[in-house]
Amino acid sequence: MTAMLEIKNLWVRASEADILKGIDFSTKAGEVHTIMGPNGSGKSTLVKAIAGHPDYEVSGGEMLFEINKKNKNILEMEADERAKEGIFLGFQHPVEIPGVNNIDFLQSAFNSVCKHHGLEEMKDDDFREFLKEKMKFLEIKESFLDRSVNVDFSGGEKKRNEILQMAVLNPRLALLDETDSGLDVDSLKIVGEGVNRLRNKNNAIVLVTHYQRLLNYIETDFVHILHQGKIIKSGDKSLAMEIEKKGYDPFI
Ligand code: ADP
Ligand code: MG
Repeated sequence: MTAMLEIKNLWVRASEADILKGIDFSTKAGEVHTIMGPNGSGKSTLVKAIAGHPDYEVSGGEMLFEINKKNKNILEMEADERAKEGIFLGFQHPVEIPGVNNIDFLQSAFNSVCKHHGLEEMKDDDFREFLKEKMKFLEIKESFLDRSVNVDFSGGEKKRNEILQMAVLNPRLALLDETDSGLDVDSLKIVGEGVNRLRNKNNAIVLVTHYQRLLNYIETDFVHILHQGKIIKSGDKSLAMEIEKKGYDPFI
């Protein structure tokens, strides 16, 4: 099987500085990849560049994503087009959107994807039912739906809300940036189970994490260490165990 996402020699800049310096990375459908690395190594930049975040300028390399069985150069696509093709980014710091109801936000995102694929949009009541089922699993209170997106949500609640967004959009490529940070053990378990439930043979998941502990809940196929804008080592989940024991120093 060929790759769903293939990145070759990717260089990314922000504010005139090179942040990623030649990244090669690829994932097939059905795989879970975990990106680890010290603070400031470029992990968030990598996932934002894949999602097409406008602050990050790609100055070199290639990024191919499989769309309708063809490898498409997504560097020429805006972030919203990439999202509609199934690339989802869960932010390290989820944004608060005062005045926008969580349910309206989710429904409009969901329906814009339906529309893009020529599918019928979901009506209000049906959508609420559809959401309820997903929220039950993530142990999110129904009252969350009628609150402004992420406003006054606790850290753990914001992260669960990210997983809810992911569950609603059912992306082909999910990029989850530090979805575990600030989570207590219960929330960690819920997020881990949420991710496990959503993974299937047709989607790929890229986790960015600082800690091995999330990997107690999610079975990862590959682990990559990012340092100073380069992937310096790749391995399987045992690499995360090694990092847990010895830190990053032996790899740098
Ligand atoms: P990580 O997620 O691994 O902690 P980041 O990708 O957030 O690392 O950041 C990598 C480096 O790039 C850091 O030195 C950071 O300060 C810098 N950086 C990230 N985003 C920007 C930006 N928008 N403008 C300027 N520098 C940035
Ligand atoms: Mg980061």
